[in-house]
Amino acid sequence: MADIPTFKLVLVGDGGTGKTTFVKRHLTGEFEKKYIATLGVEVHPLSFHTNFGTIVFNTWDTYGQEKFGGLRDGYYIQGQCAIIMFDVTARITYKNVPNWHRDLVRVCENIPIVLCGNKVDIKERKVKAKAITFHRKKNLQYYDISAKSNYNFEKPFLWLARKLVGNPNLEFIAAPAIAPPEVIIDPELLATYNRELEEAAAAPVPEGDDDDL
Ligand code: GDP
Ligand code: MG
Repeated sequence: MADIPTFKLVLVGDGGTGKTTFVKRHLTGEFEKKYIATLGVEVHPLSFHTNFGTIVFNTWDTYGQEKFGGLRDGYYIQGQCAIIMFDVTARITYKNVPNWHRDLVRVCENIPIVLCGNKVDIKERKVKAKAITFHRKKNLQYYDISAKSNYNFEKPFLWLARKLVGNPNLEFIAAPAIAPPEVIIDPELLATYNRELEEAAAAPVPEGDDDDL
């Protein structure tokens, strides 16, 4: 076990965006999670099998302290990669993304970060692809996800694994055990979202510093 590459993954974002739901989809990680009672944290070891061997993301999740403001430095210290999550049905959670990013990079200066817009299964989407621009200014990767349907569950981990291993040819060679989907997303809706994401990516990066929106 000792030589399996293991990375601390810091999971942040507003309360209610689906962070805990997302991390619990990975069944062995949920089974093997550890509590750090002093910090109020659960650490889920999420393992993935790649063509370069197994990789483990020790994914940190809170007990809900983020609902009462920022998180203590101990949560971020020695973070090697991160996921910032917002809820595409709640604009305020996207507006708060720059605050989470600021808190994160204050402690973890130069780590790979994925921005995830969760709950794309919900028809009343409020934060559309066109409005999601923060990642382009800060060189983060962005994915639409739906924790409840497992949509794009592996994408953030694959992107982070490639960055951490330093090889864009890294692939996952076996799917981890994932909880069965609780909702099914309309494939036409997903096709529309993917088209909108492509259009947004082709448009120029918006001017101006609206980090403190
Ligand atoms: P956290 O506070 O960020 O850890 O968020 P939770 O994981 O506790 O989720 C908050 C609420 O959002 C719960 O009621 C979840 O069932 C719901 N939720 C989480 N992910 C999804 C999703 O992908 N789709 C939908 N429709 N609801 C979700
Ligand atoms: Mg939670």
